[in-house]
Amino acid sequence: MVRLPPQRVHSPSVAVAVAVAALTVWNAGLPVARLMRLGLAVATQAPTICASASRRQGRIVSSQQHRSSDEPETTAPAGSEQQRRTAIVDRLSELYPEATCDLVFTNPFELLIATVLSAQTTDIRVNSVTPALFAAYPTPVELAGAHQTDVETIIRPLGLYRNKAAAIIALSAELLDKHQGQVPADRVALEALPGVGRKTANVVLPNGFGIPGFAVDTHVSRVAQRLGLVTTTTPTAIERELCTLVPETRWGQLSHELIWHGRTVCHAKRPACAACGLATWCPQSTTLGEQDHHIALQHVTGPHAQDYLRHLQQLS
Ligand code: SF4
Repeated sequence: MVRLPPQRVHSPSVAVAVAVAALTVWNAGLPVARLMRLGLAVATQAPTICASASRRQGRIVSSQQHRSSDEPETTAPAGSEQQRRTAIVDRLSELYPEATCDLVFTNPFELLIATVLSAQTTDIRVNSVTPALFAAYPTPVELAGAHQTDVETIIRPLGLYRNKAAAIIALSAELLDKHQGQVPADRVALEALPGVGRKTANVVLPNGFGIPGFAVDTHVSRVAQRLGLVTTTTPTAIERELCTLVPETRWGQLSHELIWHGRTVCHAKRPACAACGLATWCPQSTTLGEQDHHIALQHVTGPHAQDYLRHLQQLS
């Protein structure tokens, strides 16, 4: 094995390349930790990208204490608070250009039901039960006439399955009763449905109908507050503040980007700050989460981690 100079091995960009390669192989069945231990070998296979990225890596260094001797000192860009927020929003779209709704659906009815089922559980778990659910009950007609115990059996892995089964059956009956079996493309009508609140409407409107809506879930709330994008803490107030940052045509997309960042990097516990592409503009970057770059890379997790690291590397 050819040994690289120490400063290249420890540069954040090389580490990102290692992490991307590690995640790629992890998807093929090898553990990340083993690949991280083999970092030298992986880094040696990506010299062109790493050398180029190394010259410009300052923008992704969040903590000066982890700089190698060849890394330029990084300072937050000068400018107004508005410029800082704009920079964050722009960078989010660069880090998560594929961001979209993680729920799998083929029409507004499936999206509405999947969104109701997603309460207190993950989208991945919802996606694991909805194919069977929608195969058995493809429209409100079938679901409204279902036996609750049969629905419970299908959605049992989600937890709260009795309440959720009753809720989606009642919701389907209301769609039949008041809306000819169609999901209304209207906020007031949506929020009047049983079990449908503002958050569910804000998922269904943009993703099901292309109508502006800004969904604020736990990830959006946490990430927006940590980044200082908002000064409030309630979902409705956070939604109102975030809606001022971008045109309404981008509300849904910005919501997805914040959700993906919360799922991938800015976790509730121990966010991966030293591997965060927003660290330059984040007031919490050096005080809140993991400050060691190599350890932080291992905290970049979830279904979008590989895409995130690839975009981070391209931006560095
Ligand atoms: S620097 Fe840390 S706290 Fe700030 S957005 Fe990134 S992961 Fe979250």
